[in-house]
Amino acid sequence: MYDYLIVGAGLYGATFAQQAREAGKKVLVIDRRPNIAGNVYTEDVEGIHVHKYGAHIFHTNLKRVWEYVTRFATFNRFTNTVVANYKGELYSLPFNMYTFNKMWGVVTPEQAAAKISEQRAEIKGEPQNLEEQAISLVGRDIFEKLIKGYTEKQWGRDCKELPAFIIKRLPVRLTFDNNYFNALYQGIPMGGYTKMVAKMLEGIEVRLGVDYLANKEELDKLAKKVIYTGPIDAYFDFKLGTLEYRSVRFENELLDIPNFQGNAAVNYTDRETPWTRIIEHKWFEFGKDDAGNDLPKTVISREYSSEWKPGDEPYYPVNDEKNSALYDEYKKLATAENNVIFGGRLGEYKYYDMDAVIDSALSLCKRELR
Ligand code: UDP
Repeated sequence: MYDYLIVGAGLYGATFAQQAREAGKKVLVIDRRPNIAGNVYTEDVEGIHVHKYGAHIFHTNLKRVWEYVTRFATFNRFTNTVVANYKGELYSLPFNMYTFNKMWGVVTPEQAAAKISEQRAEIKGEPQNLEEQAISLVGRDIFEKLIKGYTEKQWGRDCKELPAFIIKRLPVRLTFDNNYFNALYQGIPMGGYTKMVAKMLEGIEVRLGVDYLANKEELDKLAKKVIYTGPIDAYFDFKLGTLEYRSVRFENELLDIPNFQGNAAVNYTDRETPWTRIIEHKWFEFGKDDAGNDLPKTVISREYSSEWKPGDEPYYPVNDEKNSALYDEYKKLATAENNVIFGGRLGEYKYYDMDAVIDSALSLCKRELR
């Protein structure tokens, strides 16, 4: 008999499993996929660690999370700086003095601030949605060129129908700092995320290619408690209705050139280009392989966002009012479910970053593993 059956070998499951094992518990980890590491899974292609389920840049302000992850990997000095391509015009992201200079020709922070305050005047009162929030933060010009098209492609919804908090993920700065994140700690685990998660799961029994929901009854018998990190609505067989997710499709290409776009991430912020961004994976590790040699080839991924339908991988919860209300109903069922704990981006239907997922798993460990 296991103390815990952990459903999902992503960051939430791996963190809980690692801590439980360290506390002397007997744990079994299962995952539907043939690989560990959930959506942070990286796959080696010609020496390049390809982020198979989308770009993941680790960043955090939480000391306990940084101390935790650095037990399992050494992180490089990668700092995310994103380039936006609007119909061939290149802008620096997040919104900073380079962006404002290119957009308006302003040179000083005072001039940039004046331009923003002139353009935000159209928003009266507290912003009610993503569009109003964006205009109120950076003005209409930037909203039209760098936010509107990208956001509508990414979410498949009008900017007026999306919650304001989504755009608040991006910093706005009156300095020449184009670090995409406000984080004290940032980097990419050297050797790839898969290697890091493998280290977390060292000495732990992991069964891959096992579908929990299809074999629930028999799997539940194996353990005293279940930690479930899959979609919460699927657990309850969608009985209250389906929660909406955004899915992502990647078109990967291996190119026989050393440098395609000169940066890890280029966002295509116009409405017409069908992909949202192109990731060139080698730049997460400065174009070098694990031995420090320059890589002669490159792998790029064009990212296409779509509405999730059964059979697709869910990536982003759509935290609008309708879905949040439905999630609250599922949450009540989850709370009433004996001996099952729901966690992670899918289990809690929350737009969690990696560090928040780990932090949440560590908090659970504190309560649970006494
Ligand atoms: N966003 C945008 N333009 C960009 C990049 C981001 O309008 O070039 C908006 C968009 O609504 C997106 C949100 O900001 O969903 C959050 O972006 P982030 O890069 O944090 O998204 P993630 O990397 O999690 O997909």
